[in-house]
Amino acid sequence: MLPAELISLEDRYGAHNYAPLDVVIERASGAWVYDTEGRRYLDFLAAYSAVNQGHCHPAIFAAMLAQAKKVTLTSRAFRNDQLPLLYRDLHEMTGYEMALPMNSGAEAVETALKAARKWGEVVKGIAAGEAEIVVAANNFHGRTIAIVGFSSDEQYRRGFGPFPAGFREVPFGDIEALRGAITANTCAFLVEPIQGEAGILVPPEGYLREAAAICRERNVLLMADEIQSGLGRTGKLFASMHEGVTPDVMIIGKALSGGFYPVSAVLSSREVLGVFSPGDHGSTFGGNPLACAIARAALRVIVDEDLPGRSAELGEFALNYMRGLRSPYIVEVRGKGLWIGIELNRPARPFCEALKQRGVLCKETHECVIRLAPPLIISKADLEWGLEQIRAVLEEGTDAHSEAVAELAGTTASGK
Ligand SMILES: *Cc1c(COP(=O)(O)O)cnc(C)c1O
Repeated sequence: MLPAELISLEDRYGAHNYAPLDVVIERASGAWVYDTEGRRYLDFLAAYSAVNQGHCHPAIFAAMLAQAKKVTLTSRAFRNDQLPLLYRDLHEMTGYEMALPMNSGAEAVETALKAARKWGEVVKGIAAGEAEIVVAANNFHGRTIAIVGFSSDEQYRRGFGPFPAGFREVPFGDIEALRGAITANTCAFLVEPIQGEAGILVPPEGYLREAAAICRERNVLLMADEIQSGLGRTGKLFASMHEGVTPDVMIIGKALSGGFYPVSAVLSSREVLGVFSPGDHGSTFGGNPLACAIARAALRVIVDEDLPGRSAELGEFALNYMRGLRSPYIVEVRGKGLWIGIELNRPARPFCEALKQRGVLCKETHECVIRLAPPLIISKADLEWGLEQIRAVLEEGTDAHSEAVAELAGTTASGK
């Protein structure tokens, strides 16, 4: 089928809750994706960091295939022989005492919120129904009603109320605001160590460390949402490690499956995850043997191929490269590891469209930010090529912008 026909089918029969770039991907390998007409593109988004291991990693694929031939789903009504092994791997890799597996990231965040509230009641002694959770402004934790209820993005909330109570927002990076927001009823502070969807916002040095100290002092759980920042993306296994912090609750997803399957998990102590009794919480697919086999293989790739180390090294190179650009459009370049936000003084979408024409796939976030987050297995040569395309689009004269728009309209800038 022609790409235009596929796009029209999708637009006619599917809800329009996304505005994708019009590239119809048919297959992918490593850092590259291929459209239905055989054109190839360097993937600089990596499915929002779900494919840190690269597309269709052969080791993860082999584990998926082998497990799919045996048993895929038992439900937690019965035990399976893969879940215990995933628990052991997660414990050995991260040091956390316990884990609770889910599927999507939003479900893992919901699980953490439930764990924190119940811990607040049962362990901290907060009166029933009074537990409060502090969250950061500009957060992104997923799309459920509870989660969008404490989003500061008006579009995420509009039309979806009423929302659950019990959340308090503080400015991201403001340690005094956090201190002031905590009351005797506060059970947890939920935060992304680096805010991804907000545009790769890196808080002031020491923020997470001080937040951890305040949480410890006030008997409040520090819950890190590392669904996007974790598993190697920032140059360490977890972004919290840059500050030497071990959050009480660690939420992971995305790259936990290397993109093969939705797998997420909450990692914490026996004290916190021990609040769940049989029947308190669950998921039909959570912890299924296929998911566990895939997650184990995906974690092994992160270790075996030293993805955090690659991210640190390639990220430093990419950040220096981007900071060296002279473009009239760039306001700021920031990031950690191979996770870089380029804030522009105008909408980023036309630049993403122009990059697509040049064979690089990026997606704008928060209107004016281009996010660079290629798979962490990307070769230095491919990365350099991709950065060169970005340089061309951002630097080549003041008409790069109109050129992008002209290309969109199906004309060539030189012909105008
Ligand atoms: C993607 C993301 C989520 C939500 O994960 P889904 O799998 O889309 O539900 C939550 N938190 C952060 C930080 C994310 O990047």
